[in-house]
Amino acid sequence: MRQYKYVLDEKDLPTHWYNIVADMKEPPPPYRHPVTLDLLKPEDLAPVFPQALIEQEASRERWIEIPDEVLDVLKMWRPSPLYRAYRWEKALDTPARIYYKWEGVSPPGSHKPNTAVAQAYYAKKEGLVGFATETGAGQWGSALCFATNLFGLKCKVFMVTISYHQKPYRRIAMETWGGEVVPSPSTETKVGRDILARDPETTGSLGIAISEALEYALTHEGYKYSLGSVVNFVLLHQTVIGLEARKQMEMAGDYPDIIIGCAGGGSNAAGLIYPFLKDRLTGEKPNLRAIFVESTACPSMTRGIYAYDWGDTAKTGPVVKMHTVGHSFIPAPVHAGGLRYHGMAPTICALLNQGEVEARAYHQNAVLEAAEGFARAEGFIVAPETAHAVRAAYDEAMACRESGESKVILFNASGHGHFDLGAYDAFHRRELPDYELEDERIREALKDLPRI
Ligand SMILES: *Cc1c(COP(=O)(O)O)cnc(C)c1O
Repeated sequence: MRQYKYVLDEKDLPTHWYNIVADMKEPPPPYRHPVTLDLLKPEDLAPVFPQALIEQEASRERWIEIPDEVLDVLKMWRPSPLYRAYRWEKALDTPARIYYKWEGVSPPGSHKPNTAVAQAYYAKKEGLVGFATETGAGQWGSALCFATNLFGLKCKVFMVTISYHQKPYRRIAMETWGGEVVPSPSTETKVGRDILARDPETTGSLGIAISEALEYALTHEGYKYSLGSVVNFVLLHQTVIGLEARKQMEMAGDYPDIIIGCAGGGSNAAGLIYPFLKDRLTGEKPNLRAIFVESTACPSMTRGIYAYDWGDTAKTGPVVKMHTVGHSFIPAPVHAGGLRYHGMAPTICALLNQGEVEARAYHQNAVLEAAEGFARAEGFIVAPETAHAVRAAYDEAMACRESGESKVILFNASGHGHFDLGAYDAFHRRELPDYELEDERIREALKDLPRI
């Protein structure tokens, strides 16, 4: 009898998060101050993030205990299932054995609440009133509103104006969970008012929304700022994905040759990959391949440079060493909004630089074509971001068909695409552009990197 899915009990939930920094040969270089460019001190971050998260950000401990209160909430949907894609393997006529971890089962529909819940818990414990944050299409904002509501906190979300008007469903979800959502730029912050005075018709950007959220958090008593990707503590919280998947792969009697995740800031991919990559870093599985997949519209790992850059467009956040296409780079409006970040998580970049992991990029038609094939075989309609991981799994499965090898491929299915069906519609109508990004645009954006 074939087994299609591997399901763990609640008691099998990981009790600790895994911190990859403990096993890296060389951890990423330290953060720097956005204005002075000197080394960043923990107290510089104190007004911005809850204290416990600042400690996790700098931690070198291999295992960090997950508080019971966090586990209690994660149990609403975790452990998440792991599937063997028998039907897709058959459709692709490949000898590869393909597995995927399904994060679309969380109430907001993606991996993002894995960290939103932990962050809300620490904020509550510290006695905060609420969080301010930014959101593009609303995936991060909805995860944070879901989490803050459960801990009795407020959530103020600055949502990029164009998405606020064009993509109302996640805004409605945020409001349903008790969040307060305003289009950004707004009149509620100085940054927002200044931008509106100069350009009343602006459609907004993620960079502006970050600046507004930061200003709001710093000027409102009891508020701090929450971030949904890139930094160490977010990647740490996401390792529940890979820790569960390890147990599930064991149940299946397989171990991956290739692990794949899509990467915007890198959190869902690292969440699946890091607990396995541990085996490569410690020499147990030297041939394990890990692939981070980005969008050709924002190719930080495949066409950017490895350098210090500001994490946000307005240059208010820390300066970090990462693969970047420049903090002033504005990517084309691809449907995978979650992959439109100019940089990448510093630990992923350090591992890429050390040759421990791989990166690749795809155009949106190629990823939606693979995602449609996946949906027809496996049923799940994945988010456009997730579709990038699906495409990479497809290409690796096809390589197996060529070579006749029966490799084990595991990818993270980071979220469902039920609010992003417009992307599939545009693909069906052949109206989905594949943006060709000229080198000149990247060169231009790389001109304003900090000199360190
Ligand atoms: C936000 C998002 C991503 C990209 O973010 P990472 O931090 O790189 O994981 C990927 N998939 C889905 C479904 C998302 O919502």
